[in-house]
Amino acid sequence: MSNVEPRPQATPCHSDGDADGAPPPIRQLDTRDSELGTGLTIRRALPNRHKRLVGAWCFLDHFGPLRLDQAGPDQHSGMRVGPHPHIGLQTVTWLIEGEVLHRDSLGYRQLIRPGQLNIMTAGRGISHSEETPEDHSPALHGVQLWIALPSRDKDMAPAFDHHSQLPVIEQAGLRIALFVGEFMAERSPARVHTPLVGMELHAIAPGEHHLSLDSTFEYGLMLTEGAMDCEGDVLTPGSFYDLGRGRQALRFRNDAPMRAILIGGEPLNEEIILWWNFVARDNAELASAREDWIRGGDRFGQVQGYDGPALEAPPLEGRFKTG
Ligand code: MN
Repeated sequence: MSNVEPRPQATPCHSDGDADGAPPPIRQLDTRDSELGTGLTIRRALPNRHKRLVGAWCFLDHFGPLRLDQAGPDQHSGMRVGPHPHIGLQTVTWLIEGEVLHRDSLGYRQLIRPGQLNIMTAGRGISHSEETPEDHSPALHGVQLWIALPSRDKDMAPAFDHHSQLPVIEQAGLRIALFVGEFMAERSPARVHTPLVGMELHAIAPGEHHLSLDSTFEYGLMLTEGAMDCEGDVLTPGSFYDLGRGRQALRFRNDAPMRAILIGGEPLNEEIILWWNFVARDNAELASAREDWIRGGDRFGQVQGYDGPALEAPPLEGRFKTG
């Protein structure tokens, strides 16, 4: 996906909190609605004014659920994000319903369905497009997350991986699909570059649940369906919940079907700047990536087969420093 804000502000991102003492209270943070191209509304949970990073997770967009089969004013053509560049990050696409077709400048063309993972490593530069395929399900619903690459890996060669099989843990009526990292002796095959975890929690019936967490990680949670009663706090869709650091367990109850995305990681402890579709360390790095995209050429290559224009880089305004 692409950040389509017409005048994106550079967002310096840094880790906060420490691992000492009791876990902080759960903080409810507002998400921001934004339009992605053809009227596809997304809710942006990260970066958040009050929480820039969760581990190296630096971006979280929730899109849908969207009906694609209705005639009339609510009819929607789905996702159409033309070719656009990325640097310094990995994109993680996870669907709850529907399909998305990915194409990139390495030549990959990959359809993704629910329960599968697309993970694209931008490194020094890649471009891709994402669209609802012609032959598709009646609904589209999912998330896209970005992971900041640490300094030592930020200029690595770009890569793309599709994982059709991921570990699924069934525990007392809770179905845990692990797309990144390790959890309960299972491990996702996805290659990441800092200690991280990402999973979907899905309960189809009421229940009480207990998940052991890593107290050296910070965690964040976003519900996409239902509600979760978490030690007195009622968590619902439409917000992002900062669970902080130092938490050894997540105990919750659901009285109805519930689905949520739980992310966590070791604090990145690096100053990064997120601007448009780039993660960088300074202004010069952003400016040169922007110019390389405008100029065309080898760094971002070509996306073959997408029927539509590439996205134009927005203006890079002002100067900013990290911190
Ligand atoms: Mn993208």
